[in-house]
Amino acid sequence: PERWTWTRCCRRLLLLLPILSPISPSTPGELSHPPPRPPRPRPRRQEGTAAALCATPSSAPALRVSPSRGTSSSPRDSRVSVDIYDENGVGGGASGVSGGLLHPYSPKVKLLWRGAEFWKESMDLLRSAEQANGTSVSNTTSQDDNLIWRRGIVRPPTTEKAAAILLENVQKCLESCSLQLLDSDAAQRLIPGLCTPFDFAVYMPLALNINPKKYLQALFSACQNLADEASSLPSEQKEIKLYKQHVDNLHLLAGNYDSVIICLGAKACSLPELANKLPLRTCRGVIAEFQLPSTTVEEYDSQSASILSDAWLAFQGPRTVSIGSTWQWISENDSSTVSDEESLTAIEELLPKASGVYPRISKWDFVRARAGIRAMPPLTTNGSLPLLGCLDDLLGNKSNCTFWLVGGLGAR
Ligand SMILES: Cc1cc2nc3c(=O)[nH]c(=O)nc-3n(C[C@H](O)[C@H](O)[C@H](O)COP(=O)(O)OP(=O)(O)OC[C@H]3O[C@@H](n4cnc5c(N)ncnc54)[C@H](O)[C@@H]3O)c2cc1C
Repeated sequence: PERWTWTRCCRRLLLLLPILSPISPSTPGELSHPPPRPPRPRPRRQEGTAAALCATPSSAPALRVSPSRGTSSSPRDSRVSVDIYDENGVGGGASGVSGGLLHPYSPKVKLLWRGAEFWKESMDLLRSAEQANGTSVSNTTSQDDNLIWRRGIVRPPTTEKAAAILLENVQKCLESCSLQLLDSDAAQRLIPGLCTPFDFAVYMPLALNINPKKYLQALFSACQNLADEASSLPSEQKEIKLYKQHVDNLHLLAGNYDSVIICLGAKACSLPELANKLPLRTCRGVIAEFQLPSTTVEEYDSQSASILSDAWLAFQGPRTVSIGSTWQWISENDSSTVSDEESLTAIEELLPKASGVYPRISKWDFVRARAGIRAMPPLTTNGSLPLLGCLDDLLGNKSNCTFWLVGGLGAR
């Protein structure tokens, strides 16, 4: 399954939909008691158990479900219904917590596996989210409340080895997200106070910083708008619904849906049917948020880039920055709440790394910390690739419902 790209997986889902028999819609209350099948055709039903909406490809299905044509009951019936179950709501997991730096490169500025496609898809999704956000939010919000900050990202190396690799990798970049080599003067013009221990930095002018939770919520609105627009004819009806509800197991869903897409992040392994079956390792991460004190007049310039180094500094508005992140392997603590003790440990780890490239961070005050849990897939020669594919063989599934997994994702 790890060889599959999201796009292939998605097309296959769409191809499968028309040949599946229509089944009954359910309500959240019906989850544990599936209703009998109704006598007449109903929309084809797909379920994404939980965050099918995130800064990852798992947001794609709902945005693409429109053009499939039904065949089983009526050649013109192309109704589709998508239910999303997420006990914490949109962006309630790691996706809503992550730092939000968006670019198609590894920390060594090597183009990611299928990075060109991912970058294009991400830009399309961002456009959809921005469009939806534009219609629902007033323009009077402060810069700190943006959905996207287009300030680019600078990567200064801090070791000789990293400097050599960066100089090699900078030669091969995407036209749609170019890399520029800056000498220290140019880098410091871009970010006053930046340290460049090896007298250069790599600049990604088109890289972005997004507010992940806001982005996910806007993307969900975009999905709902798309479903509404596509539903002009009764035979074309599309619907997407979000249920803030815990899913105990897969068994109870089988009778209610044509397809179930499992994207529970690190908690996919907590489903009894998948326990100890997925090659995912859990890792908790903490991000610390800092602000400039109100007594400081000088702000972080809107043209100054965010910084990627041993720690990353994702600057949002002129007075807010998120610094991340820690790596607590094997932790199963998925709470977004961070205790004072955990915050302190995270700050002690992150601040020295941040100060190494941006000493002025000492003038900023710690405000709060947030955390989440990652599900890390195995490392391959192409990097850590998401796990995507059909689970029917793994589950020994004999029902008419097909089970899919989208897991081991990064925020990007
Ligand atoms: C601090 C931190 C920093 C990170 N930084 C980066 C980074 O720099 N780059 C990068 O690529 N990645 C990063 N990641 C990783 C990345 O954010 C996640 O791996 C990715 O967002 C996972 O997306 P997901 O949709 O698979 O899972 P999630 O976003 O975790 O979504 C899973 C959802 O499932 C819901 N859920 C779980 N179980 C159930 C259930 N039984 N019933 C109902 N709902 C359920 C949860 O509420 C949650 O909303 C970071 C993660 C963290 C925590």
